[in-house]
Amino acid sequence: MDYSKRPIAPGTHQLPPLPYLYNALEPVISSSTLQIHHDRHHKSYVDGLNKAETALVQARQQNNFSFIKYWERELAFNGSGHILHCIYWTIMTAKSPGSPGPETTRCINNYFGSYNAFQEQFISAAIKIEGSGWAVLIWQPAWGRLEILTAEKHQDLTQWGGIPILVLDVWEHAYYLDYQNRRNEYVKSWIQLINWYEVENRLRAAQQGQLPLISMSYEMPV
Ligand code: FE
Repeated sequence: MDYSKRPIAPGTHQLPPLPYLYNALEPVISSSTLQIHHDRHHKSYVDGLNKAETALVQARQQNNFSFIKYWERELAFNGSGHILHCIYWTIMTAKSPGSPGPETTRCINNYFGSYNAFQEQFISAAIKIEGSGWAVLIWQPAWGRLEILTAEKHQDLTQWGGIPILVLDVWEHAYYLDYQNRRNEYVKSWIQLINWYEVENRLRAAQQGQLPLISMSYEMPV
């Protein structure tokens, strides 16, 4: 992450480019799904976040907080949507190593008992989310370990302080063109796409208290 660009001024978030071509994840995710998802859906969260932040700058200047409840909700919804999609793009690759890196493996085994136990819980959690949402593997700094959480929409049911390191989008826009209502097929196929190089990178950054948004690794960090 380029720390020289922080803090990001209110209303100036940008849609990051996809780190690969639209067809890079076929056949698991089609080119049209990926294009619409990134160019339209993710962009709308970036735009919504910028709009909310800009409105709140104005509210502070005018000391007028009549619509504070609305804008706070917009901050949570669009801010969480932007962050989760940034991570989602980077933790997928057609060249998945197939298994987690050494530190990810150590932390998964320590907490979940085995990789299989982790995978079964992650897949089950993703399939069972009511409505739109995410399955999220977080590093919880407060307790020094991993946890699997789910989010309804982008922001409900979170656990404060958790740093997401692996996220799975189960909003219908992420899979409906390709799988229609068969979310279970999408989730089970999606597992093959996991960029464990990037997850390993993200875990190590999270253990240092960092949440990179635009990194993308293609090699296991040493
Ligand atoms: Fe999405």
